[in-house]
Amino acid sequence: MTTAAERLTRALVDLADHGRRPRCGEPGGHEMWLSDDATERALAARWCTGCEVLTECGAAADENDEKFGVFGGRDRTRTTTPAKRKRVPTVENGTEDEDRRR
Ligand code: SF4
Repeated sequence: MTTAAERLTRALVDLADHGRRPRCGEPGGHEMWLSDDATERALAARWCTGCEVLTECGAAADENDEKFGVFGGRDRTRTTTPAKRKRVPTVENGTEDEDRRR
């Protein structure tokens, strides 16, 4: 039984044999797929449209539980919700800081 990653590798080799590559593999452009900027990753995900190995790429990303970047036309980046900020007492919000009461 072959893994999804192996099927992706096979599909990429077949593409290369025909002198083609996926858009994320083009020189100078691949940074968009792994950008820290969510807007750039969204653009990269749209650029996956029509990719000849999109299905294999997505399956391999699922298999590898990718947590960052664009694979198979989808941004796999998991964002964490910032911890709720602790309310800091101030004179303005009517709560006096304990240190100020001393
Ligand atoms: S589907 Fe995968 S291989 Fe194709 S352009 Fe998108 S990230 Fe690259």
